Amino acid sequence: MAPGRDIEETTCAIVGGGPAGMVLGLLLARRGIDTTVLESRADFERDFRGDTLHASTMEIMAQLGLADKVLKKSRSRITDFELRSEGEVVRLASLKELRTEFPFIAMVPQVDFLNLLAEEAGKHECFHLCMNTRVTGLIREEGGTRGVLCKTSGGEVELRAKLTVGADGRGSRVRKAAGIELEQKAAPMDVLWFRLPRTDEDHLGTGFYISRGHLLVVLNRGDYWQIAYSLMKGNLKEMHDAGIDSFREELKKVLPETMHSTVGHLNDWSQVSSLSVASGRVKTWFQEGLLLIGDAAHVMTPVGGVGINYAIQDAVAAGNILAPSLKAGKVSMKDLAKVQKRREWPTCFIQQLQTLIQNQIIANALRGDRPFQLNLPTRLFLRIPWLRKLPAYLISYGVRREYVED
Ligand SMILES: Cc1cc2nc3c(=O)[nH]c(=O)nc-3n(C[C@H](O)[C@H](O)[C@H](O)COP(=O)(O)OP(=O)(O)OC[C@H]3O[C@@H](n4cnc5c(N)ncnc54)[C@H](O)[C@@H]3O)c2cc1C
Repeated sequence: MAPGRDIEETTCAIVGGGPAGMVLGLLLARRGIDTTVLESRADFERDFRGDTLHASTMEIMAQLGLADKVLKKSRSRITDFELRSEGEVVRLASLKELRTEFPFIAMVPQVDFLNLLAEEAGKHECFHLCMNTRVTGLIREEGGTRGVLCKTSGGEVELRAKLTVGADGRGSRVRKAAGIELEQKAAPMDVLWFRLPRTDEDHLGTGFYISRGHLLVVLNRGDYWQIAYSLMKGNLKEMHDAGIDSFREELKKVLPETMHSTVGHLNDWSQVSSLSVASGRVKTWFQEGLLLIGDAAHVMTPVGGVGINYAIQDAVAAGNILAPSLKAGKVSMKDLAKVQKRREWPTCFIQQLQTLIQNQIIANALRGDRPFQLNLPTRLFLRIPWLRKLPAYLISYGVRREYVED
């Protein structure tokens, strides 16, 4: 956006340069559609927002000719998920058996992934990325949305657009400005995220670690472990008040002894980020001239690490369905409804599954009043070879695959 001008025009204004916004921006720019992505932050740096690129995303990247570039940024690959509890190890899912070129989760720092998308999209003259640009409201005329109002370092700008896409995440400003309500459900837990240094001698596998009221999710990110410590909702303040020394002692109760000295690296709460876990979705993803995608339309919990991948699948579906209409200069309500119809039920399904895991495994593990055991149906499920493949498939693809149509 040129400084000094206060009214601009674009065909598609995308609010939010997260995974959903950047992928949609790239896809529309490839089709020659004038597209402007507005991102409030000055850069893409964002720790602990998920670095997990699943087969669904990697296959989309391969279609765009970007898979090798993405994999070069990868810190590690996850192929197996285990649950370790009271000396027992249960394999929950193995991605190795998937029939795909990418039978793993690539751990790619989100900052590198988003920078790569920005670089690729920037090769198209019709793509404009405005960092440091906060959308403050919508331009509403004749009962529809006609663009956005934003604040830049140069002042206030009115960006008029044929279509405005809210890809601005769980706290979406666009959603609020449009008066669309998010129906939110609290999860039974909150999460504390932190990192610990990693060496190849560490005997940790990626997966869940459970011991008497404690649950960790451990992810290998190359030179460090990313660890999520789950705790019952409402216990966060008590944990903080007890101090970081007490938190370290809690961690030692669940981590193997070989890791106990590494826990000493945590010496201040500033090294620990907290996340209030919630899930939710909106009833209607669109209004005239407006569409919500990604977390703006459906907030995901971190269970299964599917949020980024679902946001990207929304972007691909939206790009496929809307590009022809955007090229023709008019997007109808029918077009927008098609995007919701395509993506709504896969989203509902995976949110239900996340809730089931939260209630059956996580809440059960956090209760801690008796040794944790997977319930009988889950154990039987994991014993049946063809059923055992299902978690791996669902983690990797969800229930509906999306591919880029050119
Ligand atoms: C702590 C945590 C851990 C997570 N871990 C994982 C994981 O391991 N794997 C996984 O797949 N998912 C994970 N998720 C979920 C994942 O982060 C989201 O599902 C995913 O990022 C959604 O992508 P999005 O593009 O829809 O929104 P976001 O990634 O939230 O992007 C929205 C963008 O919009 C920008 N923005 C917001 N408001 C405005 C405004 N007014 N104007 C302009 N720009 C604005 C924001 O700065 C941001 O860049 C995690 C989430 C959290 C909170």
